[in-house]
Amino acid sequence: MIVGIDLGTTNSAIAVWRDGRAQLIPNSLGARLTPSAVSLDEDGTVLVGMAARERQVTHPQRTATAFKRLMGTERRTTLGPGHVYSPEELSALVLRRLKSDAEAHLGEPVAEAVITVPAYFNDRQRRATRRAGELAGLKVERLLNEPTAAALAYGLHERDQACQFLVFDLGGGTFDVSIVELFEGIIEVRASAGDNRLGGEDFNELLVEEFLNAQRAALQGLEAGEREVLRARVREQAERARRAMSSEPGGTLRVTWRDRTLEHVVTAERFEKLSEPLLARLREPVLRALRDGAVRLDRLREVVLVGGATRMPVVRRAVTRMFGRFPGAGPNPDEAVALGAAVQAGLKGRDAALKEVVMTDVCPYTLGVDTAERRADGSVRTGLFTPIIERNTVVPASRFKTFATMRPGQRVVRFTVYQGEAPAVADNIELGSVEVPVPAEETGLVTVQVRFTYDINGLLEVDVQVPKTGETRQLLILGQQSDISPAQLEERRRVLAALKIPPREMEANRAALARGTRCYEQFLGDRRAQIGELLRQFERVLDGQDPRRIEAARTQFMRSLDALEGESYL
Ligand code: ADP
Ligand code: MG
Repeated sequence: MIVGIDLGTTNSAIAVWRDGRAQLIPNSLGARLTPSAVSLDEDGTVLVGMAARERQVTHPQRTATAFKRLMGTERRTTLGPGHVYSPEELSALVLRRLKSDAEAHLGEPVAEAVITVPAYFNDRQRRATRRAGELAGLKVERLLNEPTAAALAYGLHERDQACQFLVFDLGGGTFDVSIVELFEGIIEVRASAGDNRLGGEDFNELLVEEFLNAQRAALQGLEAGEREVLRARVREQAERARRAMSSEPGGTLRVTWRDRTLEHVVTAERFEKLSEPLLARLREPVLRALRDGAVRLDRLREVVLVGGATRMPVVRRAVTRMFGRFPGAGPNPDEAVALGAAVQAGLKGRDAALKEVVMTDVCPYTLGVDTAERRADGSVRTGLFTPIIERNTVVPASRFKTFATMRPGQRVVRFTVYQGEAPAVADNIELGSVEVPVPAEETGLVTVQVRFTYDINGLLEVDVQVPKTGETRQLLILGQQSDISPAQLEERRRVLAALKIPPREMEANRAALARGTRCYEQFLGDRRAQIGELLRQFERVLDGQDPRRIEAARTQFMRSLDALEGESYL
């Protein structure tokens, strides 16, 4: 069985192509999204998904989230003594959970997957994602760009004519805008832009600040450590209140601190007002994607909303204002990417309903060199950025530019390579430099040619040539190498497989207990006593070890917590 997987920064989801359509597969808790979170329990057990997300508030030091941001880097996350993981290993744990939940649901083994990645992921990040799949015991049939997947979920590939979509993806912590085009059966990501520090969490922070300001008097004299614990709790409440506001006119943050319960009500109007600066930041990437993709607003077939944070009415209104029309109706925004991956998986299974789709890659950043300019008055301005390969160029790409020495008698020309979009090199990222000797002309200036070749593997070749002498120099920019041998991969897979990971039904119980513990910490008085009693009851049933009674008790326990928290969990 081949599945489609959205391996997200905040949440992941798995879907399958069945009965002629893509369908999401619920996890062992019955939820359609599995938090991309991993946590290490006191007894060395590794928890994945909701159980881990719950522990983020109570055990932040032992919990990892948002590791997708680290994909393709060498960064390691320590969850406890002897438990150090690379980003792809953490991702592998999430993928393994999705795989086993899907197998339990489908009643058959899942061996292959289409996994989605952001359109701007470079080759290193893509390779890391592939490796995560392999570590999880999946054959990664292909990596699919997230905006392409979203467009497939909307049925873009079923259109007969060429058309263009704008995919507006606001997730937990990232904002991605892409122009996706269908032309003669080929889907292409024409342009992508975004803000990798903008998402639902930033809206939470607005509410956190609002709450802390309002409660300043009650919260005086906090130590740094306490402040952190408090913030985590307020943040959790902000998330809750913000979600509530997607279907209700307002929300309440309720936090227990020491012996008091602090409450703060936020109205929809107030929230909209607070959100203004964030909503304003949505605009620029949209304009940039349209500009880079050379697409006119009125030529867009549809604006596709993706990402859980686009469920917020304030965001929907901002989108409607921006485009002068309502976004298209489609699948749930946080499920679209996984569904699209399943469409691609179905296509692989040669389902007659689908056409072949081919994707191309684009270079996500502008690459160029530093140059200097002589002003009319003879003075020299240095540190200017001259692009050679512009961002969103389809790769592989090779481009050159010709430069000249600055002054007669110059013996050497040095080129420093930068990546970025700013006009001053100081604001971009330096990648390396190369020098080439030039003949010291007494009068005129010498020309030097610089060629950039950027291949599909994220390798940048910089060739510098002096036509007059035939002198050449080359610089190779590999970025960080994070390749490991098959033997090392096998070894890491063995280590991961040997981790103590509770079976699905136990993990569901752990998630319920973790939630109960968090609620206990959160509430006071009667409610706290009630939660304590519920926890003890549930623990008694767990001690009885009767799977059927445990399942019934867990469902009951979760419902009671839903009632106490005023929000359903799934
Ligand atoms: P990612 O792509 O980052 O993995 P998602 O697309 O699942 O994540 O989006 C997660 C974000 O969506 C979170 O910030 C969450 O608060 C937000 N979200 C989910 N449901 C709602 C809702 N009903 N109302 C408001 N925000 C929501
Ligand atoms: Mg996403």
